Amino acid sequence: MKRLEGKTALITGAARGIGRTFAEAYLREGAKVVIADIDADRGAETAKELGEKAAFVRLDVTDQDSIDRAIATAEDTFGQIDVLINNAAIFTAAPIVEIDRADYDRVFAINVSGTLFMMQAVARHMIDRGIKGKIINMASQAGRRGEALVGVYCASKAAVISLTQSAGLNLIKNGINVNAIAPGVVDGEHWDGVDAFFAKYENKLLGQKKKEVGEAVPFGRMGTAEDLTGMAVFLATEEADYVVAQTFGVDGGNWMS
Ligand code: NAD
Repeated sequence: MKRLEGKTALITGAARGIGRTFAEAYLREGAKVVIADIDADRGAETAKELGEKAAFVRLDVTDQDSIDRAIATAEDTFGQIDVLINNAAIFTAAPIVEIDRADYDRVFAINVSGTLFMMQAVARHMIDRGIKGKIINMASQAGRRGEALVGVYCASKAAVISLTQSAGLNLIKNGINVNAIAPGVVDGEHWDGVDAFFAKYENKLLGQKKKEVGEAVPFGRMGTAEDLTGMAVFLATEEADYVVAQTFGVDGGNWMS
């Protein structure tokens, strides 16, 4: 018995990485998926590779018109949205004295405002149609405590955890569950974009940094996107109906160490 049969999920930032792996897991469980991403070429290619139960829609989570269009397209394509995964986010790092205001604004626009206004738009869609839906936000264990060189990203994910609590408590009155997943360190293409940062501030090559990070995880290695899929599927099922406003660490014990 497939656990997400008959459901449609819209996953932001699903052109690659964790979002794409979630789309694959949801398809295996019988769902239809909307790959919503700012990267039109990669997003369309991903949707094509995933087959006829996947569709691509271009989405910039910082732009309200783009959000509204993406939801309308998802509705036209698959009828309705039962599950939203707010996965799109960007990473940034710098010592406090070097944080750039434009960089800060961009991180908060995508990671925080993007998460909030996607939740709002999809919640309106669900409420209008009486859908007892599920919203899953991608937080991070970086949102549970500050880190010397990662202040802006940590603060943005702390805001995601807080918004998950507020939205969760508010929307459960409409039968909509809002919860979050907080990964620790997950291997993937995302790391390639932070190569220069580790070279600049820690004088380390990416391979060396990743090795150290993996060894520090009590489980003994970095996470993979696949490690997160069990929680992502569970939170979208009726088994999670009584789970409200929580953020779940899936991190190999990283946060506790
Ligand atoms: P990634 O960088 O590989 O993928 C992010 C995706 O978001 C990309 O496809 C990108 O095109 C898309 N995107 C960026 N800006 C967008 C916008 N304005 N509108 C729509 N789409 C946009 O990231 P990932 O490593 O797969 O991470 C996925 C999620 O998991 C993020 O929320 C991230 O913060 C969180 N997370 C990742 C890690 C990790 O170690 N990789 C750890 C903790 C939490």
